[in-house]
Amino acid sequence: MVSKVTRSPGADSSGIYRRPRLVLKVKRFEDIPILLGKNKSYPTPIRIVGADYSQTRCVGGDGGTTVDTGGLDKILEFGETSVRAQAGVRVGTLVRALAERGLELPLTPEIGQISLGAVAVTTLPQASYGAGMAQLSSCVTEIKLITPQGKQMTVTERDRDLMRVLRSSFGLLGVVHEVELRVRPLTPVKIDYQVLTLKEFSGRFTSIVQAPGALRLHISPFTDKITVERRTLDETASVSRSGIWQVRNSVMRNVLPAFGSTVGSVLAAPGLRNAMLSGVQRALRATLDRAARGVVLYAHEWMRDMPNEAWKARHTYSLWAFPQADYPKMLAEYFNFCKSYYKEHRYRSNVVSGASRLHQDRGSLFSVSYTGPMFTLEPSSSGDSGWDDFLIDFNDFASALGGTPTFNQTRALQVEHVTKSFGERAKLFRALRQRTDPLNRLRNGYFAYLLG
Ligand SMILES: Cc1cc2nc3c(=O)[nH]c(=O)nc-3n(C[C@H](O)[C@H](O)[C@H](O)COP(=O)(O)OP(=O)(O)OC[C@H]3O[C@@H](n4cnc5c(N)ncnc54)[C@H](O)[C@@H]3O)c2cc1C
Repeated sequence: MVSKVTRSPGADSSGIYRRPRLVLKVKRFEDIPILLGKNKSYPTPIRIVGADYSQTRCVGGDGGTTVDTGGLDKILEFGETSVRAQAGVRVGTLVRALAERGLELPLTPEIGQISLGAVAVTTLPQASYGAGMAQLSSCVTEIKLITPQGKQMTVTERDRDLMRVLRSSFGLLGVVHEVELRVRPLTPVKIDYQVLTLKEFSGRFTSIVQAPGALRLHISPFTDKITVERRTLDETASVSRSGIWQVRNSVMRNVLPAFGSTVGSVLAAPGLRNAMLSGVQRALRATLDRAARGVVLYAHEWMRDMPNEAWKARHTYSLWAFPQADYPKMLAEYFNFCKSYYKEHRYRSNVVSGASRLHQDRGSLFSVSYTGPMFTLEPSSSGDSGWDDFLIDFNDFASALGGTPTFNQTRALQVEHVTKSFGERAKLFRALRQRTDPLNRLRNGYFAYLLG
């Protein structure tokens, strides 16, 4: 029925502590109720793991049973407007299979490893094109799950409130084994870049957010540069194969972190290190300048595959979202924060910070754009020494400025940040979780601390 993977893995080299007593790979969803029912053989908490790519302890083993859904890997049915698949299918596998049929998801993330179970129940904000669709979970139209009591349940978008809660449930309300997602015809995306100073960005902010398209920002506080990447859907465009996108991806995602990591570990003197990092950022600038005239491609082409073992991905980041209206002001504060942090602690993050514009999306309870349009801010790093401490201070900075965190992509989160951002929504979720799982079969220490 299930295969035992190992008895007791502990913290991995990404530093995320897990320590379950058992790790099992489930091959048939029919076996999940049996696992849930046998407390002695399968100790509490039962935690589900998809690709294990979260930046926090949201999977968290805590001496219990970790259930790997990797064996639930079948795409079950392709339709013209929807696709049905098991929870262990990776989004990259699905997106490529859809592209072969001339289809795509309404939103396409940049990494292919994410499992469809995580797509359904976690917070995955993406640069969005319009209201109501700013998180991957909003693409999910139906969820099949096993409740903590071992009962099968099917929830569709017709059950709007229940769907909203499940899309933010992180495996605390049940084990998802199958999902249906919305799809649409493959549409070319035109991509343009504009490199601005913070002053220019602030001055043009209204027109930047009013023009159509999805926005991704690449932010360098120390060189006072914000690269605005605009993705516009264009059915009439013909797709160019300039190769610029691959170059951009490679520089942005691979060269920078790898270089940062080498520099960080080899050169101790911060002055020298930062001079070298600026050199890399100049190289990045040149690449983007070449791409400024525009590239047209399909969304699945920007997806990249990370290593299957999550801890081997050296690129790390943390994510908060901030109200759109105050974003330029917030960025000015962020630039000042980074500079004074560096002055005091001689630490600066060695990779450009990313950001996405999010339209309002109330499709899930812990959506970071639940209350209105937002922009994320994603400080990034190769995980060099000083990064973890930086994030602790950055979290307090972000929370004080009205930021909203996530449970799977915001590192070093504290309960006061959760209470401040989610307030009544967190209380509602807690009450529901206590009623649906009174024996805490699915709850780990991470969520006990943050959500009760
Ligand atoms: C280097 C790196 C780059 C990244 N880049 C991006 C990016 O470009 N875009 C983006 O959107 N995200 C990105 N992420 C974030 C990552 O995709 C998310 O954190 C996502 O949740 C990971 O999916 P997963 O399958 O690994 O989930 P896991 O970490 O395995 O699980 C996440 C949560 O979902 C629960 N869960 C998983 N499956 C189920 C199920 N079947 N039933 C019930 N509960 C379940 C788990 O218990 C856990 O609480 C990146 C992460 C890393 C480390």
